[in-house]
Amino acid sequence: MSILCWHIDGLKPESHLKVLYDPLHGTERIGLMKAGIEEAQGMADERSLETEHHFDWNQYERGTKGSSSLTFRVHPDTDLTLPVLQITGEKEGPSLLVFAGIHGDEYEGIDTILRLYNQLSPQDVIGRLVMLPTANPLAYRGGTRISPDDDVNLARAFPGDPERSITQQLAYVLHHQFIAHADFLLDLHSGGTHYAVATMVGYYHDEHSELGQRSRAAAIAFGMDLLWAHSTIAAGRSISSAQSLGIPWLYTEAYGGRRIRQQDSDSFYTGSLRLMNHLKMLVAPDQRELGKSPASIQTIYGDGNFDASVVSEAEGFFIPRVKLMSEVHLGDLIGTIYALSGESLQEVRAYADGFLVMMVGTPIVKRGEPIYLLAASHE
Ligand SMILES: [Zn+2]
Repeated sequence: MSILCWHIDGLKPESHLKVLYDPLHGTERIGLMKAGIEEAQGMADERSLETEHHFDWNQYERGTKGSSSLTFRVHPDTDLTLPVLQITGEKEGPSLLVFAGIHGDEYEGIDTILRLYNQLSPQDVIGRLVMLPTANPLAYRGGTRISPDDDVNLARAFPGDPERSITQQLAYVLHHQFIAHADFLLDLHSGGTHYAVATMVGYYHDEHSELGQRSRAAAIAFGMDLLWAHSTIAAGRSISSAQSLGIPWLYTEAYGGRRIRQQDSDSFYTGSLRLMNHLKMLVAPDQRELGKSPASIQTIYGDGNFDASVVSEAEGFFIPRVKLMSEVHLGDLIGTIYALSGESLQEVRAYADGFLVMMVGTPIVKRGEPIYLLAASHE
């Protein structure tokens, strides 16, 4: 990876600003940066940041709103561009970072970010709202969960590595240029193409630490009726990156299926506003439709690692027998995989008591594909 380039529009009507800098330290990379600046000459109103090794969010002037893009070159010679939408209020306050599209086939978060960007003005915001509608442009382009270029799941690649594959390099940029500068990370996910997932908000569960207490409070404030409490966070996630830096985070899940259910769109959007309100980032919260808090909240537990899902032992057609979000008991029939001859190939049964938090959403299953995932109903 070599050159990073910020292209910022919309900060001021007259501005068309291109900023170049190198995210890495060291003389070799300073040289690369200079080469990049030379390449970029001729652009209107450009300026270099030779003395800076990271993008400073303070460059978003107070009282501005705009779209920008971060372009960086990954080795050997591919340019990746991340769109960035920001709204910066007049008053200083927290920086809330929102990711969507870590998986390229999950669209609810993109919907949320576009709604927030269009509904909020700098006059509505205290602090900074920085949003990446497609945190994984490779997978977005492919409409896939993982990056088609290197078959790497971005949600397993954090904090990234500038010397490894393209998705590892992308994770490195997301960690260093975005997560590291945030006061709070909200990462919006859903079931995507293949999975049906309970709509919920996930948080770090530790009653004894300040980070855990703040996480729980933020999760409740989000306003969903289902919370997933994780006392351990599997490595490689955006949220594990945030956790390693002591930055509080939440993530969401939703039903998915490449179609956005209206209720999921609304709960993500309202939840994001409620989170901003919780973080004291809304100027006039009483003028917003923040909805009612749910009458009751259910908390489920476990590490939330989809890699630990029960997988198919056969290739066939899966017919579920229980509904998503059911309570199941050890040995209960979750569903059956059939051959097209009508023969039953595999009865998929619950390996424990638990809450059915994910189930395969597309009935044609291959051997080794995830079929279901349980969360613990109790701590
Ligand atoms: Zn996802």
